[in-house]
Amino acid sequence: MAENGFETRSGRNDGRMVADTLLVHGLVVTMDPSFRVIEDGGVAVKDGKIVFVGKTSDLMNTCTGSHVIDCHRKLVMPGLVNAHTHAPMNIFRGYADDLPLNEWLYNYIFPLEAAFVNRDTVRTGTRLAIAEMLRSGTTTFNDMYFYTDVMAEEADRTGIRGIFTEALVDQPVHNGNTPGEVMGLTVEMIQQWNDHPRIRIAFATHAPYSANPDIYRTAKDLADKYNVPLHTHLSETRWEFDLIQEQYGHTPVGHLENIGVLDQNLIIAHAIHLTENDRHLLARRNVGVAHNPQCNMKLANGTAPIPELLKLGVRVGIGTDGVASNNDLDLFDEMRSSALAHKLVTGDPTVMDARTVLESVTSGGARMLGMDHMIGSLETGKQADIIILDLKSPHAWPHFNIYSLIAYSLRGSDVETVMIDGKLLMENRELLHLDEVALYSEVQDIHQKISHWQRQKQTS
Ligand SMILES: [Zn+2]
Repeated sequence: MAENGFETRSGRNDGRMVADTLLVHGLVVTMDPSFRVIEDGGVAVKDGKIVFVGKTSDLMNTCTGSHVIDCHRKLVMPGLVNAHTHAPMNIFRGYADDLPLNEWLYNYIFPLEAAFVNRDTVRTGTRLAIAEMLRSGTTTFNDMYFYTDVMAEEADRTGIRGIFTEALVDQPVHNGNTPGEVMGLTVEMIQQWNDHPRIRIAFATHAPYSANPDIYRTAKDLADKYNVPLHTHLSETRWEFDLIQEQYGHTPVGHLENIGVLDQNLIIAHAIHLTENDRHLLARRNVGVAHNPQCNMKLANGTAPIPELLKLGVRVGIGTDGVASNNDLDLFDEMRSSALAHKLVTGDPTVMDARTVLESVTSGGARMLGMDHMIGSLETGKQADIIILDLKSPHAWPHFNIYSLIAYSLRGSDVETVMIDGKLLMENRELLHLDEVALYSEVQDIHQKISHWQRQKQTS
């Protein structure tokens, strides 16, 4: 600490603000509206919030504190925002790959979920996902699954930030026999977690092919009543696009417009198959789009027209989707995939440039989730969701352009330290509030049970 010059000065009663944590001498990428990048920069944190961002020398004149993190040769940036996940599916990583979506979903994933989704597996899967997200710099995620109460408990315990939704479909689900029952449960959860600083409960309708218009309308009314988002999958496959047109006489986007749920409170995951009218409708209604490039490529569903949507002013975040169709939660990897996929598909190397994809997992992702007043950039007054990356690796040198370094060269495994709401959750690559040894043993137990079930199925 002494080498930072703080110890000798902190004893003075000189009117400087006493902060809880001071990050000093880092390369600070703020992602604020003016895209400030600060060499030899610092961030001061107090009561969970950012109270200063600027040059280390200015920080030292403004703030003092005994907990100092030296970020020399390190990158300091906002924590990443994963726009669309199914975190408990982490226990199904690699179960079935290289299949068309419907075969993958109906022949593999749905039977597996019917047999193995319960409170215990959701707890373990969520914890595994949280460990993976923290290790790769994700500090906020927007989820849709079952047993949201268990997921919220794990998020509370581990310190991560998230939006949790219980998937509504026409059929009975793990957590309720009817959509009404699941909606009632969601309302109870919203009331229970209402005052939590990091956890938000919202609504989710799975997709227009699995949830009828009444479910969408009722969920939308409740989402508006409680001022929370409504999260759905939309226009993911050509099959869905054709089916919805046949069933309702509209495209999937047109269908949601027709039933009155298309507005700024709606978050749609995928948005691949869109007509020109659909794109303009999404912009006009200010709908949030969660773009999932790797999942879309893996299931060969197509590439969402994200460059066009961004041009129209649509709010876009990047998500990984569940690991069963990805197969990881590393948003650095996802940024790169997004930048490359759109260049390949459009034949235009200027689309989805490095800064644009970084925006989609930081400030833009936060805006898409309606959380940009709290997170997404390093600015005074925002929550201190901060990640520190080690730049002492061959792949991090040299760096002519910091956005290029982040989007094209760095990896989730370069993340060394993670702070959420000013609290350290990972320090020097050690998770401070999660027992990874115990976690891997639980995962191993579930893996053995699934393998046994799979063998029995094959022989029967
Ligand atoms: Zn999904």
